[in-house]
Amino acid sequence: MTRLLHRQTASALPVAVGGEGIELIDKTGKRYIDASGGAAVSCLGHGHPDVRAALHRQLDQIAYAHTGFFTTDAAEALAERLINDAPEGLSHVYLVSGGSEAVEAALKMARQYFVEKGEPQRRHIIARRQSYHGNTLGALAAGGNEWRRRQFQPLLIETHHVDPCFAYRHQGPTESDADYAARAARSLEDKVAELGGENVIAFVAETVVGATAGAVPPVADYFKRIREICDRHGILLILDEVMCGMGRTGTLHAVEQEGIRPDLMTVAKGLGGGYQPIGAVLLGGHIHDAFAQGSGFFQHGHTYMGHPMAAAAALAVQQVIARDNLLANVRAMGTVLHDRLTAQFGNHPNVGDIRGRGLFRAIELVADRGTKAPFDPTLKLNARIKKAAMAEGLMVYPMGGTIDGARGDHVLLAPPFIVTEDQVGTIVDRLARAVEAGL
Ligand code: PLP
Repeated sequence: MTRLLHRQTASALPVAVGGEGIELIDKTGKRYIDASGGAAVSCLGHGHPDVRAALHRQLDQIAYAHTGFFTTDAAEALAERLINDAPEGLSHVYLVSGGSEAVEAALKMARQYFVEKGEPQRRHIIARRQSYHGNTLGALAAGGNEWRRRQFQPLLIETHHVDPCFAYRHQGPTESDADYAARAARSLEDKVAELGGENVIAFVAETVVGATAGAVPPVADYFKRIREICDRHGILLILDEVMCGMGRTGTLHAVEQEGIRPDLMTVAKGLGGGYQPIGAVLLGGHIHDAFAQGSGFFQHGHTYMGHPMAAAAALAVQQVIARDNLLANVRAMGTVLHDRLTAQFGNHPNVGDIRGRGLFRAIELVADRGTKAPFDPTLKLNARIKKAAMAEGLMVYPMGGTIDGARGDHVLLAPPFIVTEDQVGTIVDRLARAVEAGL
């Protein structure tokens, strides 16, 4: 009997005892291709020698030092590296232990920024429907996944949700990308008008939507329109790249493909590649300066923030990605993966859409391709496909349809950046068998 409260109380999980490259190994010796990086985490795969060596070195130096008393070389070096590679304008890094913590910190940083600047009336956070920003109460309040929010609603701070940018589901059949981008962005403009621009703190969005809708990239110029609206009203733009960032879409930051700058950006999963729990907020110089010239401190903190072991792991992961030019492989293998998915599922009667960027891809499953009608959520296709995939020796990340029927089930793929063409072929073959078994 287990004494762990697992995510699902009834589940009997295999016991992971090893990991090599893109595979995980359980106690019976069975191997699983990690085609989702867990949840888009394991960007370098498992057991990487350079990361293991970096962790040993850090452990031999200092494992933990409270950030109220000390800084460490590991945390300073990681911050330096992140800012060297960051979009222009981002000047400082706040290190935490995961994605939800990063989003919480970004929301509070945005609020305190306006308090420091003498605009305490700004109190509204606007985010989008069909999004996910984490499970802690502030991040959950920002997120627009109704199924995740529903039972905790009485505990959530007031937030406002506007339309997502989701071409497959919401772009009109004859509507151009430019018109759709403008229409999706207008939903933010309307909400700002309703609340009063001078009362809004921030707009929060995933640059490429991850788990809730399944690797949904924005249409061209959508974020340019969003940036214009934010600028017009002095609203901060927080981009949540916890899942889609750190190389996953083929550029270090997904926002590089949008031609805009955020005021704050969160990263996590691919930052440490799963070798240690870590997340970060990258913040603009204007935000840092408001704190530095105002109260002199950010009124927030966690015991494990800036943890040197986590920073050392993340630094090693990022160094390997750069040294081995793995972003080029993300782009090349991303195209191969897209082509293989299209060859396999392009004419499948229950696959409505194949989408994504880099090694961040998804197929959307629908009951009817013509009408895009989703499957009945009570069928729990996601659980069935996941189980069938695990039986095939494949980890993928399937998610169920929404309770409001606004989208279908999807299967998310996010393999490690070291994946080869042969392995991509094996992933798609196994996925095809799992989908057939699960449907
Ligand atoms: N933001 C996004 C976009 C995510 O995808 C996730 C996790 O899936 C989070 C925030 C929360 O991150 P964590 O699970 O590390 O708290």
